[in-house]
Amino acid sequence: MFVNLPNKARHEARIAARREARASLGTLTKSAPKSTETARCARRKRYNLQKTASDLLPGHRVCSCGWRPIKGGQLGISRRGDKHFISNARVCGSVWACPVCAAKIASTRSEELRAAVDAWTAQGGAVWLLTLTIDHTAKDELENLLKRFTQAMSKLWANRWSENWRTEHGQVGIVRNLEVTWGLSNGWHPHCHALLFVSADADPFAAEQDIKHRWQHVAARFGFSVSLQRGARIDAPDDDLADYLAKYASKADTGSSWGFAEELTWSNIKVARGARFTPFTLLAACDSSDVGAAPLLFQEYVDAFHGRRQLYWSKGLRDLLGLNKELSDEDVAHAHDDQSVFVAAIDTPIFCYIKARGLLCDLLDVADELGLDGIKAFLEWAYDCRFYESRITSPTPVRHGPSI
Ligand SMILES: [Zn+2]
Repeated sequence: MFVNLPNKARHEARIAARREARASLGTLTKSAPKSTETARCARRKRYNLQKTASDLLPGHRVCSCGWRPIKGGQLGISRRGDKHFISNARVCGSVWACPVCAAKIASTRSEELRAAVDAWTAQGGAVWLLTLTIDHTAKDELENLLKRFTQAMSKLWANRWSENWRTEHGQVGIVRNLEVTWGLSNGWHPHCHALLFVSADADPFAAEQDIKHRWQHVAARFGFSVSLQRGARIDAPDDDLADYLAKYASKADTGSSWGFAEELTWSNIKVARGARFTPFTLLAACDSSDVGAAPLLFQEYVDAFHGRRQLYWSKGLRDLLGLNKELSDEDVAHAHDDQSVFVAAIDTPIFCYIKARGLLCDLLDVADELGLDGIKAFLEWAYDCRFYESRITSPTPVRHGPSI
């Protein structure tokens, strides 16, 4: 339908057509702020998933995440805003395997990306979302797919063609991620989303046409067949893009509307489309009979992604946009807890008792609702339970009161 239009007009017509189609369907709504109850459910789900991941990955650092105090300190409860959490605990910082750390990391990374987008648009620039995919089958092993896919991506960005493409389209920097979904019919689907920071007058349609052909050519060198139509796609901002991306928002308890930043940083957590599973929805499926192979698939995924970076910033972009030096995932997971108020200390044996009985989220729910009084009452109750249970199993229980 856009055959006889010049590039710019084609792009505008495509945006208008998309907007019209969505308006006529009337099904897309902006993501509303999550209620307190929803946030608590999400927290409980993350802890449950962390337990499932620990069971599946013996010896992995996720198994000790949040259990042990940081050297020389004591476990405690702190408050950030109106939310309480376990503080002063060593965390694993695994963005791939740990749903609790992944949520903290995604929250910080998406704040950074939003700041980057705001800074660049304030300077008069524009930001596009690029998606790169490849064709694959259910027989492909993830490790091999991922190795070839990342090699192809490196090749795409590191050569003369890429330099010329960046210059031609006024690109000053890029932030790209690495993510994967799994589907019953086509197996593992590694792909990449990238934010392109470009000049305001750059033409996304022309850029998309160039990169479609280049990606098909580069990916073929690594043994991939790539659809010219679907292999590379550029979305430029328009009024409805937040709505378009809101398709993923139901699983991201960020409390804010979905955007470019969340598209890159909540990849493990968001809900994939159709019959596809993100890594953490696969993890959730381990406790049901939905996908019999889910435990093995999750283990394969963690092995394949071990040591890989989720997010990559091009050199000099953070400086250009006035952002601080990038922290490691583990540092982000710890730093997330820094902007908080310490509320109460917990003896490690009492904490272990609460966690072993799956009561950690109950403690945090009580803390959110009743504050310090609720925490005191809960810890005293847990202390009594542990004391009387220990009397059943041990003739001489040692009595230590909870320190709060
Ligand atoms: Zn963790």
